[in-house]
Amino acid sequence: MAEQTVTAWQDDAGRDLVRNVGDRMALFVRGEGAYLWDENGRRYLDFLAGIAVDALGHAHPVFVDAVASQAARLAHVSNYFATPPQLALAARLKRLSGAGETGRVYFGNSGAEANEAAFKLARLHGGTDRPRILALNGAFHGRTMGTLALTGKPAMQEPFLPMVPGVEFLDSTIEALEAAMDERVAALFVEPIKGEAGVLPLPEGYLEAAREITERHGALLIVDEIQTGAGRTGAWFGFQHAGITPDAITVAKGIGGGFPIGALITFGAASDLFYPGTHGSTFGGNALGTAVAGAVLEEIERAGLVEAAAVRGAQLREAIAGIGSDIVEGVRGQGLLLGVALTHPVAPAVVAAAQQHGLVVNAPNDQTIRIAPPLTIGDVEIDEFTRLFSAALATVADALLLESASPDTEAHA
Ligand SMILES: *Cc1c(COP(=O)(O)O)cnc(C)c1O
Repeated sequence: MAEQTVTAWQDDAGRDLVRNVGDRMALFVRGEGAYLWDENGRRYLDFLAGIAVDALGHAHPVFVDAVASQAARLAHVSNYFATPPQLALAARLKRLSGAGETGRVYFGNSGAEANEAAFKLARLHGGTDRPRILALNGAFHGRTMGTLALTGKPAMQEPFLPMVPGVEFLDSTIEALEAAMDERVAALFVEPIKGEAGVLPLPEGYLEAAREITERHGALLIVDEIQTGAGRTGAWFGFQHAGITPDAITVAKGIGGGFPIGALITFGAASDLFYPGTHGSTFGGNALGTAVAGAVLEEIERAGLVEAAAVRGAQLREAIAGIGSDIVEGVRGQGLLLGVALTHPVAPAVVAAAQQHGLVVNAPNDQTIRIAPPLTIGDVEIDEFTRLFSAALATVADALLLESASPDTEAHA
């Protein structure tokens, strides 16, 4: 028998898991608040929060209680039946999103499922008269075949062609939207901040213009709030900063605080499009998932974490600027969804250096570090982040300096 080694988990992962992602960076065994522990007992500050998912941090008592008590009461009955937590969450999401009396909620189990439902909503609205659906270059809406067709990243689509037809991609400008729009467009899909593209906010005034233009042409405006929702940007949902009313939004990630759940929320007339038999999900909206998401949102509300996201985000920006690193160009984003723009394509090296220093962040592209901590962080976590991130940036900046000083590189310059 082979002896167990410290890298056994890497061997297991390499052998047993589908190779759809690169090597896993760590084996985490426990979490508490904004901290994670690996199998060697080493502690990490988690400023990724499972990609903007763990809104309350890890093992928050409210989350733990909600899972345990609902699991002990009633977990799942199928959508032939309703349950109290499901109805309570639908009502809460309608209130928080401003969908109000005429709004409706469809529950799925992930972001992609929420966007699949939104895609079908767009088709129900457009029928054969409006076969065109607009999305933005660089947009990320999911990995299923429907949502991949909405994702404006040619390299992601390429191995899976042909795509579901009808989707066209635009630059993120009001002019491009104005030029593309006509009466054959069923819907426009947008993210308030393109998270996966590198935390890229829409241009100033874009959502307001998109609302006016889509309305004028009878197309739906569908806002993907999967990464920006649940208070992360300093509003319950990103579109609310623009003061508009969309036709539908999709949510997931932070809504469940770590429990897999997604939802489509429709506003006004768009709420009448689905009819019996047009969509469904076995697990979607089950009592367990909706009880947990309801408890997470209640805690975000009770603890004032939406306001906190704005305050802590501003504090983080100031702290990052204060590091004064030569390889930081600036900070994009809003609230606690931030993208640190680097002067060189060294984001993967910064992520690796951060992990060495005990900090978890990630790189949505080569030149951006994404920061999306739990909404519960305070001064202690921000101070620790600043120290660790500063050390990681210095490690990479020093390596760059060495590289540019080496005679080998100079010869090629
Ligand atoms: C993560 C994400 C999705 C996909 O969500 P999954 O739960 O991974 O299917 C879709 N849209 C946006 C904006 C996202 O950030």
